[in-house]
Amino acid sequence: ERAPVVTVDGPSGAGKGTISQLLAERLGFKLLDSGAIYRVLALAAIHHNVELDNEESLTLLAAHLDVQFVTGNENKGIKVVLEGEDVSLTIRSQECSNAASKVAAFPRVREALLRRQRAFAEAPGLIADGRDMGTVVFPATPAKLYLTATAEERAQRRYNQLQDKGFDVNIDQLLAEIKERDDRDMNRSVAPLVPAEGALVIDTTNINIEDVLDMALTHIHKQL
Ligand code: C5P
Repeated sequence: ERAPVVTVDGPSGAGKGTISQLLAERLGFKLLDSGAIYRVLALAAIHHNVELDNEESLTLLAAHLDVQFVTGNENKGIKVVLEGEDVSLTIRSQECSNAASKVAAFPRVREALLRRQRAFAEAPGLIADGRDMGTVVFPATPAKLYLTATAEERAQRRYNQLQDKGFDVNIDQLLAEIKERDDRDMNRSVAPLVPAEGALVIDTTNINIEDVLDMALTHIHKQL
């Protein structure tokens, strides 16, 4: 890997997205939201009537996935475009979350997406956000983070986020879905969610964003 890469792995709701975005801003690095790729693949499967348990067809779809990440000029992050259509919001739905973790469980699907993810490593550097960034996609980088938090705290954060967006949600259902997705992500046979060797593990349950960011930056500056 020529460009420096910082990997940020962990379960959903641990604060990876927020921290990754802040790190990218601070360091002037590019950002890879690898979860968005799995979400887009899941959405494409739904659009093209590909069964979510058909590894063969999903792999083919993954290899030919027409997805673009467009850096917006507003401060509102990155636009995700599937086959010419802005799907930035659609891929955040609960349906896409669950479908993404199903398609992500297939080894050949993951394999088909490897090169696409590695291509994001460009100068001046990359913040790679996901589940297996430090273990599989960028194992050689010395700068690895693993963010976690209790399932209850992550459900609460998700609940607050959705409420802010005006969604009426049930916190017990959110907690159940988080636990189900954790279970699938941690217990799959390929690229299961585990901290990479040498990763700095940060439990964000009782730490505010600023402090997590400080800990992360200190670690990165030491490693890179
Ligand atoms: O991070 P996000 O919640 O957007 O990811 C959606 C799903 O995609 C995860 O639940 C996980 O199953 C899968 N994923 C993965 N490997 C990654 C990123 C996401 O398996 N690097």
